[in-house]
Amino acid sequence: MTTTTTTEPSAGHNAAKHGFQAEVRELLRLMIHSLYSHREIFLRELISNASDANDKLRFVALAEPGLLAGDADLRIWVDYDKSAGTLTVRDNGIGMTRDEAIAHLGTIARSGTADFFKRLTGDQQKDSALIGQFGVGFYSAFIVADEVEVFSRKAGEPPTAGVRWASRADGEFTVEDVAREERGTAVVLHLKEEAKEFADPWRLRSLVTRYSDHIGFPVLMKKEGEASLDWEPVNQAKALWTRPRTEVGDEEYKEFYQHVAHDFAEPLAWSHNRVEGKREYTSLLYVPSRAPFDLWQRDAARGLKLYVRRVFIMDDAEQFLPLYLRFVRGVVDSSDLPLNVSRELLQRDSEVEAMRSALTRRVLDMLAKLAKDDADKYATFWKEFGSVVKEGIAEDAANRDRILPLLRFASTHDESNEPKTALADYVARMKDGQSKIYYVIAETVDAARGSPYIERLRERGVEVLLMADRVDEWVMGQVREFEGKSFKDAARGDLELGALAGVEEAEKDKALKESKGLLKRVKDALGDRVSEVRISTRLTDSPACLVLAEHDLGAQMRRILAASGQAPPQGKPVLELNVGHALVQRLDATAAGPDFDELALLLHDQARLAESGSVANPGDFVRRLNRLLAQLMR
Ligand code: ADP
Ligand code: MG
Repeated sequence: MTTTTTTEPSAGHNAAKHGFQAEVRELLRLMIHSLYSHREIFLRELISNASDANDKLRFVALAEPGLLAGDADLRIWVDYDKSAGTLTVRDNGIGMTRDEAIAHLGTIARSGTADFFKRLTGDQQKDSALIGQFGVGFYSAFIVADEVEVFSRKAGEPPTAGVRWASRADGEFTVEDVAREERGTAVVLHLKEEAKEFADPWRLRSLVTRYSDHIGFPVLMKKEGEASLDWEPVNQAKALWTRPRTEVGDEEYKEFYQHVAHDFAEPLAWSHNRVEGKREYTSLLYVPSRAPFDLWQRDAARGLKLYVRRVFIMDDAEQFLPLYLRFVRGVVDSSDLPLNVSRELLQRDSEVEAMRSALTRRVLDMLAKLAKDDADKYATFWKEFGSVVKEGIAEDAANRDRILPLLRFASTHDESNEPKTALADYVARMKDGQSKIYYVIAETVDAARGSPYIERLRERGVEVLLMADRVDEWVMGQVREFEGKSFKDAARGDLELGALAGVEEAEKDKALKESKGLLKRVKDALGDRVSEVRISTRLTDSPACLVLAEHDLGAQMRRILAASGQAPPQGKPVLELNVGHALVQRLDATAAGPDFDELALLLHDQARLAESGSVANPGDFVRRLNRLLAQLMR
């Protein structure tokens, strides 16, 4: 038995040494140490790459059938040599030129790579989770091999144009020109002493079967028995999504997910559908259980793997789902699109547009079902992807009614800050006479919970949704109502407590008569800082708060705009005073003069602090506060 069943390269020439890109060196170092407990995944990665290579060749051969000449059956071979301690994965796919081997097997081309490496902490456990999200690919071979050789010849090139790439993961690799009869690539692993189990027929066969069942090409292994030279397929060689749903087991769906998503973790849910009739296509969509590292990166790859009549066309076809569902992974296989479809064409095609709305519905249905069937899994989902889904409220008005029930919020109803409350839960718990869905937005959920704006609501036992997500103010600005109940920001305008406010209204009238003078004096002291000073119905414990007009920008939007360099227009808020509060009563009793002004300014700054987390002039604020404290201590 020979090492490489396929190639014994004639002596190479033009040999050259190259250094790995710094990121690759880092990846290798990390992977070898932290992925040891998942080391069999190298096989999935190599079979995946072989399958991708065959896919790519089949695609380019559509335009140039000559590329398949003499070797038209695309396949994958896995073989081992126990005595030599080697394992070989070979394909007869697209292959690599020398330059491609240097570029593809020496660098990482993905966008955001540098960012990713900055996020590594040096803590092995954390980093190994991260590395799984990044996708380890070809380099995972070094988890089990101390030396890896790659022999390749690009489709369409003559047998003299082969390349041998080799490395011992020591920071360098060598390439040399070799003669190579076979088209495609053979990856030869020289197994580490402690990884020799992978050259064991039984172990290898069971792994190969597991990792290749969903692959659309035959994966061949030698028949069992000493010195057997007969190859036999170990998989069904039917792309998983082309099989009827009833014939595919959960384990197979999970394996396939790991293949398409390059994710170690299991998916939370999937949906496999064949659409027939005027328009025909199959889709297999997955919801991952954790966010990829580049979820928030604008140029990150996203989208589905596109096939047309089983032929792989492209990765990351982002035209089939809206941006707010960018976390969904999977495959779409169309029977109607032309094989030569391009990204540009996808963008303009009405067929694609129709598929996109149908697939969007599918995903939203799948999420609704997950929420209904498995609250724990849904909580995981929401934690990872909730703020992305929220974008859909603004981005996809047509589906707003489908997205709203998917939202989850922290609430004054729960002790915990976990987002557990669905809008339907809130509505079901509304008090008699309550007509609004109240919410408050702050920097953190804790800050929202402690917000002065909701003191009265809490006292009345009215539930308030607590929001602290970057996008919340923007999202809530887009929605009007849910199940006929309108939303109400507790920090804006009138609280509109309606029937629930009876007593306060009467109290307020009475207080108003008595406090007319005070309100005017405070307004005079604050001047332009506020548009009006009035009596509050929303406070019970705090002396004052600043209330925005219904359409003013809140603190969160102001910060987002400021960060993007657009100086935010500052609406003038209303200062509300709690006339039941000792400080306010003290103010009322203070004669006009510097003391009165100081105290009024202090109340105003406090209220500003509670509203936006900062004051216009922290120095002044602190000096005022200290002066007052010093007086108290005299
Ligand atoms: P990915 O598959 O996600 O692109 P990998 O690290 O697995 O990342 O592979 C890196 C690149 O090396 C691939 O994109 C491809 O260009 C090249 N490559 C790897 N294996 C093969 C193969 N069997 N045939 C052709 N090219 C390959
Ligand atoms: Mg790969």
